Amino acid sequence: MKRIFPEYTYGAGPRDGCWWDETIANPNWPEFQGDLNVDVAIVGGGFTGVSAALHLAENATSVAVLEAGPPGWGASGRNGGFCCLGGSKLGQKSMVRRYGREAAQAYETAEQDAVQLVADLLARHRIDADTHSNGETQLAHSRHAMDVLRRHADETGILHQAADLPALGMGGAFFGGYTLPVGFGLNPRKYLFGLASAAAASGVNFFQNSPVLNIEKTTSGFRLKTSAGQVNAQVVLICTNGYSSEDIPDWMSGRYLPAQSTVMVTRPLSQAELSAQGWNSDQICYDTRNLLHYFRLMPDGRFLFGMRGGLLSSPRSEAAIRAKVQQDFKRMFRAWASVEATHIWSGMVCLSRSLMPYVGAVPKQPGMFAGFAYHGNGVAMGTYSGRALARLALGQDARLPAPMRQSPERFPLGRWRRVLMPPAYALFALSDLR
Ligand SMILES: Cc1cc2nc3c(=O)[nH]c(=O)nc-3n(C[C@H](O)[C@H](O)[C@H](O)COP(=O)(O)OP(=O)(O)OC[C@H]3O[C@@H](n4cnc5c(N)ncnc54)[C@H](O)[C@@H]3O)c2cc1C
Repeated sequence: MKRIFPEYTYGAGPRDGCWWDETIANPNWPEFQGDLNVDVAIVGGGFTGVSAALHLAENATSVAVLEAGPPGWGASGRNGGFCCLGGSKLGQKSMVRRYGREAAQAYETAEQDAVQLVADLLARHRIDADTHSNGETQLAHSRHAMDVLRRHADETGILHQAADLPALGMGGAFFGGYTLPVGFGLNPRKYLFGLASAAAASGVNFFQNSPVLNIEKTTSGFRLKTSAGQVNAQVVLICTNGYSSEDIPDWMSGRYLPAQSTVMVTRPLSQAELSAQGWNSDQICYDTRNLLHYFRLMPDGRFLFGMRGGLLSSPRSEAAIRAKVQQDFKRMFRAWASVEATHIWSGMVCLSRSLMPYVGAVPKQPGMFAGFAYHGNGVAMGTYSGRALARLALGQDARLPAPMRQSPERFPLGRWRRVLMPPAYALFALSDLR
């Protein structure tokens, strides 16, 4: 596998300290060995791959999911657990300009459907994923940001003035906020393993520590090689997102850009600590910065706080970003300046050049499809894209909005494309000063 970050990124280092590992045991998937024939082989066992597998198995299709690491190794097993709108990094105006009003509206509907899909799956498969929050609240980090929120607010949401926030249990240095009634928080690992368990009960074969090293075209489909065997399948779904490689398949090369995100979780906060900060809301929240912070008080009283990760990936830069997350947390929640983070970890999200997710065919490879680039919002959109991939594998209409169907262009600079990120982050940081 040719990947554009150093090996450290894909190993245990950034993942070490993930709180979710302590909340649920890993399912006991075997490692793949030997020869297997299935209708559909799925590369990657995160929300995209597992959702695709579940929806395929419900349609009497034989499926194998090959996961390179242990179950939940990628972003799906280590994210912030915000099941919310998103998936694109394009602003609403830019989306309308680029795709037209109708397509932009269709994408907004897809975002809402994606959140509803997760809620339906949790209910249908009786997955207890510690859900909470009634919609999602964006909090203004500056007066200017509040003016922007005010201009964009409409009747679908509720605008909060700064003076309203204490009564909502959102004490902090915020200039107001805006709540949309869509979205909730969950334990991502419980959700992922709940989905996988439902899929396994419907006959899906899951394999861990089984990286796909090569995909060959055969007369009847594809042969996926691992170090211990091969899977023959008529259809292949590439569900590797921020953990993708340049060569699985070659078409992926240059079309995705992984970026890091880092999360910390505190010990359970006492009532006195919550009162001191004036925070007792269980709402999922994020601030208005471009380089945003996301945070939520979880049902067990721990506080989760996340932000963009480092630009470099090494033991040294990981230590630096972990220190920075704690620093930002303490700056934003001053009453908790002495509250320690018991858990901190990092993982990879995925961007595309168009700043839109893609779900569709891998060109010149009939029977191969890919779904990726949720721009750090893949709990709902990854699940939704997985279902769309299942439909494509079954030869059905994926029922996707047009902006998600446009084949992604390559980033400039090939395997050096990571150098595009520091100037982009610097510009974002500058605009966040307003
Ligand atoms: C720290 C962090 C916080 C986040 N917070 C949120 C949040 O709060 N809300 C939200 O909506 N989104 C969040 N995200 C993003 C979200 O987690 C991802 O968008 C989503 O999980 C992507 O799912 P996926 O299945 O496409 O990819 P992943 O879950 O990353 O899974 C891809 C899998 O593919 C496997 N793989 C790669 N190559 C191969 C191969 N050759 N063979 C076999 N397997 C392979 C990898 O091991 C990996 O497990 C966060 C991400 C991170 C890292």
